[in-house]
Amino acid sequence: MNSKDMQLIAMHNIMIELYHHILVQTTEGEAALQYMLDRGFTLEDIKKEKIGLSPNMNDFAIKALSEKGYSNEAMFQAGILSRNEETFSYFDRFRNRIMIPIKNHKGNFVGFTSRSLDGSTPKYLNTPETDLFQKRRLFYNLFDAFKMIRSKNEVFLMEGHMDVLKVKTTKVKNIVGLMGTSLSNEHVEILKRSCDNVTLMFDGDTAGQTATKSIGENLIKSGLNVYVIPLSEGQDPDELIVEKGVEAFEKYVYENKISFVLYLAEKSIKEAKGNDLLFTERLTELIDLLKYINDDIEQSRLVKEIAEMFEVDREVIFKRLPNRRNTIR
Ligand code: ATP
Ligand code: MN
Ligand code: MN
Ligand code: MN
Repeated sequence: MNSKDMQLIAMHNIMIELYHHILVQTTEGEAALQYMLDRGFTLEDIKKEKIGLSPNMNDFAIKALSEKGYSNEAMFQAGILSRNEETFSYFDRFRNRIMIPIKNHKGNFVGFTSRSLDGSTPKYLNTPETDLFQKRRLFYNLFDAFKMIRSKNEVFLMEGHMDVLKVKTTKVKNIVGLMGTSLSNEHVEILKRSCDNVTLMFDGDTAGQTATKSIGENLIKSGLNVYVIPLSEGQDPDELIVEKGVEAFEKYVYENKISFVLYLAEKSIKEAKGNDLLFTERLTELIDLLKYINDDIEQSRLVKEIAEMFEVDREVIFKRLPNRRNTIR
């Protein structure tokens, strides 16, 4: 690691401690702390994750870090400050926000995601792209989850940072968060190196459903086994836990893990009802995806289920699949 990278990490360590102190130890942080407690996080969770509050000031980070000898330019390069491009004056990027520190895969703090508290937009503001904070290579929580991802040979993928934070407090710990809803080629490679099975647990809204379809297709075509835990419309993992409790959540996750192709099949049937052209198109797409099912037992089962759902002869589907060597159906 070069000295610039070490500086970036050191600056983050300093700011994380300060923001955390403000949230949990000061009167200034009381309302924000109450907000987090009301969302169902315990003080212990907040301390463990080093969650903080950035005060509503333009120069809090500037003052704190310049006292430690860092230049404004270095703070800007680290993504801690923004710059007015007309006057070239610097100001704190994060103001009056819940600060969630983000580690890279080595466990070093390299950035933040932050949530606004006063309804100001954007709701979530991240560290901008820097030398060490590259969204296309980062998964939120990968460092903490890695051991369990390996031992379970499965990773749960979620949209929201709050979802990951909340789900981490349950027994389901092999979870990572996408930084938004886009999945890069780099992300796919990281997942492939980590395990064989990816379970998608995105929000139940339209954005989440659209992401499930496109990301699921991408992952299955890259050779991973893909499953989906569908959530009801308008619900996300965090809200499910708030509404039903931790144990009910764990049970739900255990009992509702659907093969991605079957998830799509159910959606397609609904969408293509009464439209024979679309019906055939969708079935053809599904058969194409069945080719990527690695496990022959699962593939055979899915063929049967999909044949029944679409009311076609199983053989029609089997015939379109490449032959598996030494496999008796
Ligand atoms: P909350 O529960 O705090 O309201 P959420 O996680 O449910 O937040 P969503 O609106 O469902 O928020 O968005 C899902 C995820 O997408 C967020 O957690 C965040 O990671 C990302 N996201 C949302 N809005 C933005 C934004 N303006 N900029 C960057 N990322 C965003
Ligand atoms: Mn959403
Ligand atoms: Mn939410
Ligand atoms: Mn959400």
